[in-house]
Amino acid sequence: MSIIVTGASGQLGRLVIDQLLATVPAAEVTAVVRDPGKARDLAARGVALAVADYNSPESFDGLLRAGDRVLLISGNEFHRDRVAQHKVVVGTAAKAGVALLAYTSAPGNQTGLVTDDHRATEDAIVASGVPYSLLRNNLYHEMITMNIPAALEHGALVRAAGDGRLTSASRADYAAAAAAVLSGDGHEDTVYELSGDTAWSFAEFAAEVSRQAGRHVPYHAVSGEEYAAMLSAAGLPAPLPHVMAGIDASIAAGELAVATGDLSRLAGRPTTPVGDAIAAALAG
Ligand code: NAP
Repeated sequence: MSIIVTGASGQLGRLVIDQLLATVPAAEVTAVVRDPGKARDLAARGVALAVADYNSPESFDGLLRAGDRVLLISGNEFHRDRVAQHKVVVGTAAKAGVALLAYTSAPGNQTGLVTDDHRATEDAIVASGVPYSLLRNNLYHEMITMNIPAALEHGALVRAAGDGRLTSASRADYAAAAAAVLSGDGHEDTVYELSGDTAWSFAEFAAEVSRQAGRHVPYHAVSGEEYAAMLSAAGLPAPLPHVMAGIDASIAAGELAVATGDLSRLAGRPTTPVGDAIAAALAG
């Protein structure tokens, strides 16, 4: 078996490699990275490194082979054409005749800026004729818990998600599902709606932060415009404030409350409760 993971030096990619190495010999795993200096630890574990950049199609020449199982981890350069970037890997995979192309996407119901890129990439994958598995990841717990220090500092958790509920899960949960798909059988032409087992609201999240931190941190709901302006003022570069406000609009609309059970089924265990992620964040 040959398993290739792009974006392997990122937070999710590293966790996928960790999970793979629990069941697959390191010699069967290749980490695709832009900067091998960032992945010395992976090489030290016996994983092969390949250097390629979504912005340089030629860097993928000869990198994929017939029969490979490939995980395309979506890029994070929101100022670039991510669909064009992803299509570089899709085209290479189709040309090589890989056995499976898995892709980290977004929930099927989600709308907005980020999701447009994911839907266009999914369309390109399906049209390419390559056997695929669309891993429609809900939000990471860690994308929410990273707000805790600011919430403690300002005495309130400010978001633009109204009373919306969501089913986030930890990066490690999504990584376990991706590893199961890459190393298992029968995942050709599948679509998985991956999400946490339990839905929660920001009011509940703030109450749990308050309980664990031992001080009152209420949830303060603002409009999408106010939230984007707040993030811009805090120094977040464009287009991220609007991307983040768009995610909150999706939560408010109920688009991120997904309950298929796909994630716990693939991971083979219940997903990580959000309270555990809050505890990890508070522990630093
Ligand atoms: P991350 O830590 O930022 O990792 C992104 C990875 O993509 C890194 O390995 C990065 O390489 C690689 N990458 C970016 N541009 C590239 C390019 N032009 N060519 C080759 N590789 C490139 O993000 P993550 O937490 O692992 O999440 C993985 C992806 O999920 C993100 O990129 C984003 O698309 C998506 N995401 C999902 C959520 C969610 O809540 N579901 C939240 C945030 C992001 P370097 O290490 O060299 O920078």
